[in-house]
Amino acid sequence: MKSPAFEYARAASIDEACELLSQHGDSAKVLAGGQSLVPMMAFRLLRPHWLIDISEIAPLQYIALETDVARTGACTRQCTVQCDATLAAQVPLLRQALAFVGHAQIRNRGTIGGSLVQADPSAELPLVAQILQARLVVRAKSGPRTLTAEDFFTGPMTTALAPDECLTEIQWPVWPDRSTGSAFTEVSRRHGDFAMVAAGAQVAVDAAGQCIRAAFGVGGAAPTPVAFPDLAQRLVGTSFNQALLRDVAQQAAAALEPGADTHASAAYRRHLAAVLATRVLQSAYDTARAAR
Ligand SMILES: Cc1cc2nc3c(=O)[nH]c(=O)nc-3n(C[C@H](O)[C@H](O)[C@H](O)COP(=O)(O)OP(=O)(O)OC[C@H]3O[C@@H](n4cnc5c(N)ncnc54)[C@H](O)[C@@H]3O)c2cc1C
Repeated sequence: MKSPAFEYARAASIDEACELLSQHGDSAKVLAGGQSLVPMMAFRLLRPHWLIDISEIAPLQYIALETDVARTGACTRQCTVQCDATLAAQVPLLRQALAFVGHAQIRNRGTIGGSLVQADPSAELPLVAQILQARLVVRAKSGPRTLTAEDFFTGPMTTALAPDECLTEIQWPVWPDRSTGSAFTEVSRRHGDFAMVAAGAQVAVDAAGQCIRAAFGVGGAAPTPVAFPDLAQRLVGTSFNQALLRDVAQQAAAALEPGADTHASAAYRRHLAAVLATRVLQSAYDTARAAR
């Protein structure tokens, strides 16, 4: 199918994009990489009257590394983020997760911001944003505001972004600890498909190998990807024995609200959540210990 007819405007600057959104917000959609928007229009799941193309706005495409935060412009391509070795050293979960996003052709066009605004509960980048407690800067004509990932994702394919707002920057916290490890994994029908269930974790250890900081989360098993900061706190001060890990992962899985579809039952998704959470936590811990 072809999409219905629409008006098209290419914004030359963030100000112009915000001006256009203030004029057409309710009937407009921002076009970034087009990897989700264009198929949805072709299937007529979306019928925006206006497309506001932000893909050529250079000030939305950057990676800026600071001591405690890595900032990425919303229109930075997924492949650019995946290939940046310095960013991968500071926020390793990003590269690990991006390896599971579609295929190289999709990552060549798809943007970091587009994936976050699309807010698919199975998508990898929203899960990383939740685990790391990323902050998202959005802008309207009236000015900017900053949201936590937790506040940004409000439901399946739904965010707190207002119709006249444009996501401009994502701030990824950088853990200062020298001995930090992370891991990301998922189960999908085929490599490159959206995850049935995905899990990611980041762990830091001290010189004795004891956990001093931990974060983990699960995607594809609730209306939004979910992080578990309180459960992760139980791992701090321990050396990650298997019984504790399983218990923490089981509790996380029990707190999820997985749905059922043609790919997997809710019970299977819950089972996967526990298994994958155990695996990524163990793997992140092992990597952190090896980095001592
Ligand atoms: C075959 C295929 C397989 C895929 N597999 C996966 C996968 O396994 N995992 C995965 O995570 N993704 C997958 N994707 C989706 C891909 O990652 C998309 O690139 C991403 O979801 C959207 O990014 P985009 O830049 O293409 O955004 P677009 O498609 O241009 O936009 C997506 C949505 O976000 C809005 N938007 C985009 N940028 C902004 C902004 N800065 N401010 C406000 N609104 C904005 C748009 O209006 C639209 O509603 C797949 C896509 C395809 C076609």
